[in-house]
Amino acid sequence: MIKVAKFGGSSVANAEQFRKVKKIIESDSARRFVVSSACGKESNEDHKVTDLLFLCEAHVRFGVSYEPIFQQIEAKYQRIKDELGLKTDLKKEFDAIRSVMKRGMSTDYLVSRGEYLTSKLLAEYLDYDFIDAADVIAFRYDGEVDMERTQMLLEERMKERGIVIPGFYGALPNGVIRIMSRGGSDITGAIIANVVQADVYENWTDVSGFLVADPRIIENPMGIPCINYNELREMSYMGANVLHDDAIFPVKSRNIPINVRNTNDPDNPGTLIMADCSEADRINPPHCITGITGKRDFTVITLVKMHASAEVGFLRRILSVFEDYKVSVESVPTTVDTFSVIVATEQVGHCLYDIVGKLKETLKPDDLRIEDRLALIAVVGRAMKDQPGMSGRLLSEFGSHQINIKIINQSSDELSIVVGVHNRDFENAIRCIYDRFIKEEEVTK
Ligand code: ASP
Repeated sequence: MIKVAKFGGSSVANAEQFRKVKKIIESDSARRFVVSSACGKESNEDHKVTDLLFLCEAHVRFGVSYEPIFQQIEAKYQRIKDELGLKTDLKKEFDAIRSVMKRGMSTDYLVSRGEYLTSKLLAEYLDYDFIDAADVIAFRYDGEVDMERTQMLLEERMKERGIVIPGFYGALPNGVIRIMSRGGSDITGAIIANVVQADVYENWTDVSGFLVADPRIIENPMGIPCINYNELREMSYMGANVLHDDAIFPVKSRNIPINVRNTNDPDNPGTLIMADCSEADRINPPHCITGITGKRDFTVITLVKMHASAEVGFLRRILSVFEDYKVSVESVPTTVDTFSVIVATEQVGHCLYDIVGKLKETLKPDDLRIEDRLALIAVVGRAMKDQPGMSGRLLSEFGSHQINIKIINQSSDELSIVVGVHNRDFENAIRCIYDRFIKEEEVTK
């Protein structure tokens, strides 16, 4: 059994968290591959090391002394080292970074030092080998990770002992460090899980996996024990963010389950993300709905033109206007001669009137309407498929709570139903779905 265990910033925020990580690693000998983020916030007033490093880089760029911030970072690592009685030569490490900074360094190099230093300390503390991500995570010049090369490089360096690899960065073929997008350590963990063909990719964070709904809206919502990759994709696209979106691809291709776990509550089994949940579903039948998520603030641009649906290419011409302004389109509900285009309001804010002008000029609609303050709610569930009456029950629930539905969208795979309501009804709509489909089902179970 091989397990890759990735620890997020909050799991390595201070010496106390390091101790929890060690307990987790020691409790299961399969956890031989450890990937670490940079130290996260210790408290609300604290800052993530990665943020501080970005700030240092800005100081360098504007010619302002970065020393006060840099010393703050240094002090954090020193505290961890002292409290855990470690020997890593931090002075040497920080001197090396300072000298690169004086010579002129890339942002990626500087920002990657958070993961690098955290992993160095963690490796010593766990008594594992440290392997620098720059030596094994191989980027191509097009920014994609070269999996074959990564696998080869890792195999060359691996010995019998467990290893700690910093997340979030790798190197280009010429050795230059390249970082991933924010939260990228999740991707590193997934890449390592892929190349070592892990049985499970554990992602340790500060929540016990995915929740059915946002805890800011639903008090104490239930956790999701098992979710499939496609459901997860729908949930995270619509705002449920526990894991980096791109962390799915490397594990999906090898069918490796991801287990999101809580470093502060290691006995909680968390959420299992798998290609196929049917095995788990046989033991524990899922709710009709796996999760409810959503976002506020969408704008709907509606064009009406008689007989337009008979005009070949009409929809393409509408969409090409949005493409010209680099606005990504969320959804396009249509009826016979009415075409609505839904976009995130913040995306069109600066060019809405240009788009409207262009649509009028090129498509000559009979009417063009704009409506904003639309919220989209995605009701996601693998168990909804082939369940007659599911959408009917959902919609009647809205009706009985006086919530007006502006848009409904369901794809033919029946994995999710997306409902558009006014922003002001957003929370109420989520609450009524939760009460009807999760709470009630729990009671009757
Ligand atoms: N430290 C990086 C960030 O804060 C990457 C990570 O934590 O995954 O985004």
